[in-house]
Amino acid sequence: MWIDGEEVESPSGEQMPVLDPATEEPVDSVPKGTRDDARRAIDAAEDAFERGKWSDPYDSRERGRILARFVELVRNQEDSLSVLLTREHGKVLSESVSEIRSLENTFEYYAGFGGKIFGSITYTRYGKDPLELKVARKPIGVCASIVPFNFPISLFAWKVAPALIAGNCVVVKPASTTPLTEIMMVRLLAKAGVPKGVINLVTGPGGTIGEELVTNRKVAKVAFTGSTETGKRILQLASNSIKKVTLELGGSDPAIVMGSADIESAASALFTGRFRNTGQACNAVKRVFVEKSVGEKLTARLSQLIAEVRLGPGLDRSSTMGPLNSAEQLRIVESMVEDAKARKAKVLAGGSRPVNIKKGFFYQPTLLTDVNDDARILNEECFGPALPVVEVEDLGEAIEKANMTRYGLGASIWTKDEGERRRAENETKAGMLFVNYRPFSTPEAPFGGVKDSGLGRELGFEGLNEYLETVSIRTYMG
Ligand code: NDP
Repeated sequence: MWIDGEEVESPSGEQMPVLDPATEEPVDSVPKGTRDDARRAIDAAEDAFERGKWSDPYDSRERGRILARFVELVRNQEDSLSVLLTREHGKVLSESVSEIRSLENTFEYYAGFGGKIFGSITYTRYGKDPLELKVARKPIGVCASIVPFNFPISLFAWKVAPALIAGNCVVVKPASTTPLTEIMMVRLLAKAGVPKGVINLVTGPGGTIGEELVTNRKVAKVAFTGSTETGKRILQLASNSIKKVTLELGGSDPAIVMGSADIESAASALFTGRFRNTGQACNAVKRVFVEKSVGEKLTARLSQLIAEVRLGPGLDRSSTMGPLNSAEQLRIVESMVEDAKARKAKVLAGGSRPVNIKKGFFYQPTLLTDVNDDARILNEECFGPALPVVEVEDLGEAIEKANMTRYGLGASIWTKDEGERRRAENETKAGMLFVNYRPFSTPEAPFGGVKDSGLGRELGFEGLNEYLETVSIRTYMG
């Protein structure tokens, strides 16, 4: 763990193993931290915020320089960091490289805000009295970053980069199955010049470390990515004191494919959108609604693309898809496909664990049609490589079904018809809409959902704003 500028063990002396999902063998172990460890990290962060120089408004440019230096350090170690990420997560090496680069991209973007966090001044009369009205934007204090297992490095960046450039101090809690590469990132932040106490990291179970971060009164903001169930618990627990909370939660993102669409491009985007990262992405394409006239053409192309997948260990350069991250994730995905099959879904590809791979948490890329409306895979978040395709009569039916779940993270539409595009813009209930393009994230655009998919936004200027307090100063000028 990393507390107050030092690498430390937990006084509990207990360790948690980190497994390689491709072999089920241990990669390493990390301390099983306790509530006391979390409190020590929070106290260090508070001390750095109150007494250190990091939050000094005059040093915003310097913060930017330090974040830029961190990006260079990460760039120099891309290869070893990618291997470590693959070993603890399971994703194939090319996906790990992309993820490390996405962290560089996010930190680079936010480093650019150094010296550019503005307030405003205006003037008015209150009755006859002249007044200056100043709006200042200040850091908020100790920020907790609770990171999930699916994109441990990208999502670390989404939280830590805006928090730091705004002048806050941070305590990170990684997912228990993927803490190792995040620990390396924290070391590199310190090496780049982030002062002691400004960045801290505590490993240990969500139920203890996570809940201490959420309930501790010294924590001014919690940023969480993970399941809707845990998100709801966090919102409840955080209400014992008033703090900012952003929640980036589950999704069951629909993709609508209309008859006018370019089916070749749609199929290849849906394939990437569903199966990258072995299907473990919050904004993955999780349900497809296709106009009947092009349904068979679309599923035929998707089946071809799936047949080309080479399932295997992420470190093997010939693999194009790795295992799921844990036995639990494998169990959940398998149970959802079995549920669809029991309700008479047709399996066009996959549909089970691979028979030729004996170890690891592997599941075959799976394509399902004729899926019953009540199937779990059409109603819950399926965090794995299984895609249900449902034929619909028209756009009205597609939108109705797309909006059917309790989720509202992203949605996508494939069409060449301007009217259909506009209707999707107006009627899909989601925080993000992708038009004739696969789901993706970029630091410039706010990311987040509506309904049970979350609260607040990450990335973009909105994402920075979540780490700033707006203070209004009213001065009598008479
Ligand atoms: P969780 O929501 O349980 O975990 C996410 C993070 O929160 C981890 O760091 C976890 O720590 C921590 N955490 C767990 N419980 C608490 C708590 N009570 N208070 C504070 N922090 C806590 O997700 P899982 O990893 O268990 O995945 C379950 C399902 O959630 C997936 O199958 C998927 O459907 C969904 N999910 C969605 C994600 C998204 O991006 N939308 C991301 C991850 C999961 P620890 O690892 O120690 O438990």
